[in-house]
Amino acid sequence: MGIDPNFDKNRETAGEENGVTVWGPVEPPETLGIHGTHVAVDYDICVADGACLENCPVDVFTWVDTPDHPESETKVEPTREDQCIDCMLCVDICPVDAIDVDPGRAGRT
Ligand code: SF4
Repeated sequence: MGIDPNFDKNRETAGEENGVTVWGPVEPPETLGIHGTHVAVDYDICVADGACLENCPVDVFTWVDTPDHPESETKVEPTREDQCIDCMLCVDICPVDAIDVDPGRAGRT
Protein backbone atom coordinates (compact mmCIF):
# COMPACT_ATOMS: atom_id res chain seq x y z
CA MET A 1 0.00 0.00 0.00
CA GLY A 2 1.26 3.45 -0.91
CA ILE A 3 1.24 6.76 0.91
CA ASP A 4 -2.13 7.88 2.34
CA PRO A 5 -3.16 10.92 0.23
CA ASN A 6 -5.25 12.15 3.18
CA PHE A 7 -2.38 11.97 5.66
CA ASP A 8 -2.86 15.63 6.58
CA LYS A 9 -6.30 14.76 7.94
CA ASN A 10 -5.37 11.37 9.38
CA ARG A 11 -2.09 12.28 11.10
CA GLU A 12 -0.76 14.91 13.47
CA THR A 13 2.35 16.96 12.82
CA ALA A 14 5.33 15.77 14.83
CA GLY A 15 7.81 18.59 14.33
CA GLU A 16 10.26 19.48 11.60
CA GLU A 17 13.40 17.97 10.08
CA ASN A 18 15.68 19.71 7.59
CA GLY A 19 13.10 22.50 7.35
CA VAL A 20 10.38 20.00 6.34
CA THR A 21 7.21 19.27 8.34
CA VAL A 22 7.02 15.69 9.67
CA TRP A 23 3.67 13.93 10.17
CA GLY A 24 3.69 11.24 12.84
CA PRO A 25 3.76 8.78 14.32
CA VAL A 26 7.54 8.93 14.66
CA GLU A 27 9.48 6.31 16.64
CA PRO A 28 13.02 6.09 15.30
CA PRO A 29 14.69 4.17 13.91
CA GLU A 30 11.80 1.96 12.67
CA THR A 31 9.01 4.54 12.25
CA LEU A 32 9.83 7.88 10.64
CA GLY A 33 6.46 9.23 9.45
CA ILE A 34 5.64 11.30 6.38
CA HIS A 35 7.97 14.16 5.44
CA GLY A 36 6.67 17.22 3.61
CA THR A 37 3.24 18.70 2.92
CA HIS A 38 2.91 19.91 -0.68
CA VAL A 39 5.42 17.22 -1.70
CA ALA A 40 5.09 14.37 0.79
CA VAL A 41 7.32 11.30 1.13
CA ASP A 42 6.27 8.40 3.35
CA TYR A 43 9.60 7.50 4.94
CA ASP A 44 8.21 4.18 6.14
CA ILE A 45 7.53 3.10 2.53
CA CYS A 46 10.51 4.75 0.73
CA VAL A 47 13.14 2.24 -0.43
CA ALA A 48 15.65 4.88 -1.60
CA ASP A 49 15.17 4.02 -5.26
CA GLY A 50 16.31 7.56 -6.12
CA ALA A 51 14.41 8.00 -9.40
CA CYS A 52 12.46 10.94 -7.97
CA LEU A 53 15.60 12.74 -6.89
CA GLU A 54 17.43 12.08 -10.17
CA ASN A 55 14.53 13.12 -12.40
CA CYS A 56 12.79 15.99 -10.59
CA PRO A 57 13.14 18.95 -12.99
CA VAL A 58 13.54 21.47 -10.16
CA ASP A 59 15.64 19.42 -7.69
CA VAL A 60 13.12 19.29 -4.86
CA PHE A 61 14.76 16.31 -3.11
CA THR A 62 17.89 15.84 -0.99
CA TRP A 63 19.32 12.55 0.32
CA VAL A 64 19.28 12.09 4.09
CA ASP A 65 20.58 9.22 6.23
CA THR A 66 18.09 7.06 8.11
CA PRO A 67 20.26 4.43 9.80
CA ASP A 68 18.54 1.19 10.90
CA HIS A 69 15.26 1.93 9.12
CA PRO A 70 13.93 -1.46 7.92
CA GLU A 71 13.17 -0.33 4.31
CA SER A 72 16.34 1.66 3.54
CA GLU A 73 19.11 3.57 5.29
CA THR A 74 18.72 6.70 3.15
CA LYS A 75 15.57 8.62 2.15
CA VAL A 76 14.65 11.56 -0.06
CA GLU A 77 13.76 14.71 1.86
CA PRO A 78 11.58 17.23 -0.06
CA THR A 79 13.72 20.13 1.18
CA ARG A 80 12.70 22.40 -1.70
CA GLU A 81 9.02 21.49 -1.90
CA ASP A 82 8.21 25.18 -2.39
CA GLN A 83 9.91 24.91 -5.82
CA CYS A 84 7.66 22.04 -7.00
CA ILE A 85 5.90 22.64 -10.35
CA ASP A 86 3.42 19.76 -9.87
CA CYS A 87 4.62 17.78 -12.87
CA MET A 88 3.80 14.53 -10.96
CA LEU A 89 6.88 12.78 -12.34
CA CYS A 90 7.99 11.67 -8.89
CA VAL A 91 4.51 10.34 -8.06
CA ASP A 92 4.42 8.32 -11.28
CA ILE A 93 8.00 7.05 -11.12
CA CYS A 94 8.18 5.90 -7.50
CA PRO A 95 8.21 2.06 -7.52
CA VAL A 96 6.54 1.80 -4.11
CA ASP A 97 4.10 4.76 -4.28
CA ALA A 98 5.79 6.53 -1.38
CA ILE A 99 5.19 10.07 -2.73
CA ASP A 100 2.07 12.23 -2.99
CA VAL A 101 1.99 15.74 -4.45
CA ASP A 102 -0.92 18.08 -3.82
CA PRO A 103 -0.56 21.85 -4.27
CA GLY A 104 -3.80 22.26 -2.31
CA ARG A 105 -1.96 21.16 0.81
CA ALA A 106 0.68 23.87 0.51
CA GLY A 107 1.00 25.92 3.65
CA ARG A 108 -1.55 23.86 5.53
CA THR A 109 0.91 22.60 8.12
S1 SF4 B 1 5.90 16.80 -8.86
FE1 SF4 B 1 7.61 17.19 -10.32
S2 SF4 B 1 8.50 19.14 -9.63
FE2 SF4 B 1 7.24 18.37 -7.92
S3 SF4 B 1 8.68 17.21 -6.63
FE3 SF4 B 1 7.73 15.75 -8.04
S4 SF4 B 1 9.16 15.61 -9.78
FE4 SF4 B 1 9.68 17.50 -8.63
